Amino acid sequence: MNVLVFNSGSSSLKYRLVDSTNGKDLCKGRLERLGEEHSHARHQWLSGTGVRREQGEDYDSLDHSAALQHIYQHLETLAEQENLPSPEAIGHRVVHGGDRFRRAVAIDQNVITEIEQLAPLAPLHNPPALAVINQCREHFPQLPQAAVFDTAFHQRMPAHARRYAVPDHWYRDHRVQRYGFHGISHGYAARAAAQQLGRPLEQLKLITLHLGNGASAAAIKNGHSVDTSMGMTPLEGLVMGTRSGDVDIAAALHVAREEGLDLGQLEQELRQCSGLLGLCGSNDVRDISSRSDQGDAAAKLALAIYAYRIRKYIGAYIAVLGGLDALVFTAGVGENSAAVRAMACTDMQNLGISIDKARNRCPGLDGSKAIHTPGAPVTILIVRANEELEIARQTMALLNAR
Ligand code: ADP
Repeated sequence: MNVLVFNSGSSSLKYRLVDSTNGKDLCKGRLERLGEEHSHARHQWLSGTGVRREQGEDYDSLDHSAALQHIYQHLETLAEQENLPSPEAIGHRVVHGGDRFRRAVAIDQNVITEIEQLAPLAPLHNPPALAVINQCREHFPQLPQAAVFDTAFHQRMPAHARRYAVPDHWYRDHRVQRYGFHGISHGYAARAAAQQLGRPLEQLKLITLHLGNGASAAAIKNGHSVDTSMGMTPLEGLVMGTRSGDVDIAAALHVAREEGLDLGQLEQELRQCSGLLGLCGSNDVRDISSRSDQGDAAAKLALAIYAYRIRKYIGAYIAVLGGLDALVFTAGVGENSAAVRAMACTDMQNLGISIDKARNRCPGLDGSKAIHTPGAPVTILIVRANEELEIARQTMALLNAR
């Protein structure tokens, strides 16, 4: 089944046409800097003769709606000129499904209304996704559409992992609890790990580490997330590119009082000016690693704090799971930074975690993406993130089950 997948961010719109039966990408692209002075589009596709092609263009400011029109036109051109097949279904990534959505759902008016009601929990993400959903329903009225939620994979977390120790009415009146995010990626990584291990997911204890610009860890037992590092919003947990992760809320309140910041400014400091960027002036782990190698003290410390937080979560989740079969690294940093992987696994031999230096530096050379020392009790794997394929698969499974 050819599934057209949309992944809308606050200022970006990614799309991909995936053959969900074999996982092949037929075309993909991203439109970025939406709503800013200049927007940029990049498309990649396979030509009718099987050659990989690419095209990039700059535009005056596009909003999500104009970006979508641009994508429709591009797909129509490819259909005419390159015989690109038509989509048979559409899958949308929706960041926040609250505690309402435990799995992907077929989109109808009720689902739209419920996603609308969840917008206050994800004000930067749910509204653009809804705009794209509504427009797609107009443009492709004949195609079935599914919403796949980033929060859904974590919805079976037990109450003791889910609830904060705050006044009970925060939970009752404002739905304050831990929802967790990156669930599409954690779910995909867990299934890929089970496949590589050749064991049923339902029998495994896994820790998945999604380390991209945003970053989170998940403890996965018998195929379900039992704890994850992100909370009510994607701010809690690991150190990220520009987000603080765990921080004493009283420290933030202290700075707000001292500097006279309002709540919006305080939130911006924690979301956009913290993390690696706040520590050393860059949020790009490539830059930070090369600065660190050249002896830059701020970059070295930033990486050390980043990796130490990951280690702490690994230790905590081994306790949560009561053991560990595999540790899985995924997303930009997890897949590409041997330095971060090595630092995150330092001094953990007593817990069964031992990284093989040579395999970590050149994963895949021996045909496997396993990077643990041969014979070590815990398998350590690198899995290439593929949220779009996971969305396409969930969309197909949902439609086939109807
Ligand atoms: P997003 O969350 O935006 O999808 P990605 O998963 O693409 O992010 O991850 C982005 C991060 O991956 C950046 O910090 C980038 O520096 C890092 N990264 C990408 N390639 C490498 C590399 N070769 N070495 C170290 N870090 C890398």
